Amino acid sequence: MFTIRARSPGGRARTGALHLAHGDVQTPAFVPLATRAVVKTLEPREVAALGYELILGNTFHLFLTPGPELVAELGGLHRFMGWERPIITDSGGFQVFSMGHGGVADEIKGRGHSRDGSHGAIVAIEEEGVRFRSYVDGRERFMGPETSMAVQAALGSDIALVFDECTPFHVTREYTARSTERTHRWLERCLRWHARHGPEHQVLYGIVQGGVEPDLRLESAETVAASPCPGVAIGGSLGQDKEQMYEVVDLSAEALERRAPERPRHLLGIGDIDDLIAGVQRGVDTFDCALPTRLGRHGVALVPDPGARWRLDLAKARWRRSPAPILDGCPCPACAPGFSRSYLHYLLRARELTALRLVTLHNLTFVAGVMAQLREAIDAGRLPEAAAALRAGATSYSGRPGS
Ligand SMILES: [Zn+2]
Repeated sequence: MFTIRARSPGGRARTGALHLAHGDVQTPAFVPLATRAVVKTLEPREVAALGYELILGNTFHLFLTPGPELVAELGGLHRFMGWERPIITDSGGFQVFSMGHGGVADEIKGRGHSRDGSHGAIVAIEEEGVRFRSYVDGRERFMGPETSMAVQAALGSDIALVFDECTPFHVTREYTARSTERTHRWLERCLRWHARHGPEHQVLYGIVQGGVEPDLRLESAETVAASPCPGVAIGGSLGQDKEQMYEVVDLSAEALERRAPERPRHLLGIGDIDDLIAGVQRGVDTFDCALPTRLGRHGVALVPDPGARWRLDLAKARWRRSPAPILDGCPCPACAPGFSRSYLHYLLRARELTALRLVTLHNLTFVAGVMAQLREAIDAGRLPEAAAALRAGATSYSGRPGS
């Protein structure tokens, strides 16, 4: 299901393609989130028009509402949401455990609160799985490896992820060790369930955990590599800063390159521009993250400005009279027609929904452009130069972020 086209000389970066039931995915690729069966503010055809070939649906949220039975009844997730290309579903582990690890509350992707204000909460973590209180209706629910697999089977995603515990970086080494071992036992259970009941078209990715402990990461990578999972994801809290994250990713990817070089690698929940570049250089094939779309809904545009962490906050008063587009030469539906920063600033301040759409479209266009540049550079054997240029603020477009 994965073919490698070119490898970067002297490095682990590679280009290739995933061959999935609903089509091919050119890699390295960024995967936009469709957490609740929608890429927020966009229609599927708009996401496809930006060049995206794979999106990520969320097992935890779709489990709670509208429920896998309903999605299956309506023809599966692809038909339900009108997206004909491949879908990857995460396992729900990250969201379930985020409720229990208070210190990582900020990392929770897309957690919502019900109208009556009740919050989700973990009731108990057991060998069997996790009991928790639903944020939708306050009811107690259960999710374990088999539940997660059954939900993802009902959704009918092209790629399913095994159920894992996402351990945060601030717990003890002993906790991380126990949790990683349990995750490995859950991997076995997921594989057993999937072999018996999983949809034939669905491929299963194992997940490397182990926190920030090098030996545990290594052991986890070896365990997943020794399993028959056709793909591997690198998960967990990857550290408290970028340096530590790169170390953990490097270590995991290095072990996978040694033990399972032909299998695709997915990095969970990472999407800053510099992190995408660093990940590709370390041999990651696909990435998913809320960042580009979430920033877009907050009026923050991605621009080639490393000094500002690639961010331009359109809500700032300094753009009130700016006639410039977000980014000169950008082909997106916000920049190409010439919408000014002034206009977008005004729309954002007036809480007009079109502004959220336009900035989301721009951000996903920008990220797609970065990934396309990285792929071209790997194919041309000049990744180090291209990565350095991107880190210095180059774009594939003619323009620069002016003021
Ligand atoms: Zn644009």
